[in-house]
Amino acid sequence: MAESNLEREKKAMAVATPIQIRFERFDGATGIAPAKPPRIATPAEKVDLVRRIKARLKALDAVFVAHYYVHPDLQDLAQETGGTVSDSLEMARFGHDHPGKTIVVAGVRFMGETAKILNPEKRVLMPDLAAECSLDLACPADEFTRFCDANPDRVVVVYANTSAAVKARADWMVTSSIAEKIVAHLHAEGRKILFAPDKHLGDYIRRATGADMLLWNASCVVHEEFKTQQLEELKLAHPGAKVLVHPESPRGVIAMADAVGSTTGIIQAAERLGAKEYIVATDGGILHQMRKRLPGVTFIEAPTAGKGATCQSCAHCPWMAMNGLHNLLEVLETGGNEIHVDPAVGRKAKVCIQRMLDFARVHLPAMRGSGDA
Ligand code: SF4
Repeated sequence: MAESNLEREKKAMAVATPIQIRFERFDGATGIAPAKPPRIATPAEKVDLVRRIKARLKALDAVFVAHYYVHPDLQDLAQETGGTVSDSLEMARFGHDHPGKTIVVAGVRFMGETAKILNPEKRVLMPDLAAECSLDLACPADEFTRFCDANPDRVVVVYANTSAAVKARADWMVTSSIAEKIVAHLHAEGRKILFAPDKHLGDYIRRATGADMLLWNASCVVHEEFKTQQLEELKLAHPGAKVLVHPESPRGVIAMADAVGSTTGIIQAAERLGAKEYIVATDGGILHQMRKRLPGVTFIEAPTAGKGATCQSCAHCPWMAMNGLHNLLEVLETGGNEIHVDPAVGRKAKVCIQRMLDFARVHLPAMRGSGDA
């Protein structure tokens, strides 16, 4: 019997129940943040939503940019409408270079903020302003400022996954593709470094460069879950597979990698290594672009769960999953969910971002498209 509209609606709403996500704060305390997945569009709804979204983007002179970790429907839509699917830095730069007056960002909040900081004259909209990041949440600006003030002899380097207020207190912002080079540069100048917020990325860079780094204690709720023992077992089952790992992952998982890199770096490594199978330790959303670029190659999500767990891999960011076709259309129709950054904070935050961009131009000319998280 055909499913009624009511039954379909109930089913759709059932997946929109908020879930609670635990994240660890720098002092070891845990915080809780909700994430509410959007309604999943049925195939018939999808056709209508996509048609209306395309019309609204045109009417608003807007460009749609999406992160590698959001739903494949949104990635495809960004590419079909002349936008981009990329990392957060390239999303912001693409929005800057595009002549459109409005940038619509499918990702998490700090990405919208970065787009606004780099493009203060443009309107930046997001499908859901409550889409957070555990790294950003675990690094509140007031506590971070106290930490910096207590260590005045250290140059302050922050990861892109931070609020505008935290960036405003930093000397440098880095993305995962350029973090090692910038820290090595500062280390060569004899500088001591305070790095926040990702402890795994910080640990990876510290071991790679030998720099004196004081680390903030936070991690990504997705990458923290990759497990070495299960990865060993998966490798045994797929002996020809190469392992690609994002440096937000724990040290033991990084040690098992054939290549370690940012989101764009992981895609490039798959293209370069020429294997028939890859095990990928980052958010599973990235596999959509990898499969499009390398058809015929097998990509497997790295395992996150132990024996007896209900999922083999939970490598999906709950906040990235808050972006959907319904709430995207809603912001385009209402103009709601606009990102605002205090102009004074934005101007200060831009200094550390610009410093990284200037460094990249000189030391890493090919950086465009090889950004972060
Ligand atoms: S995947 Fe991790 S680092 Fe990326 S937005 Fe989600 S919580 Fe933040």
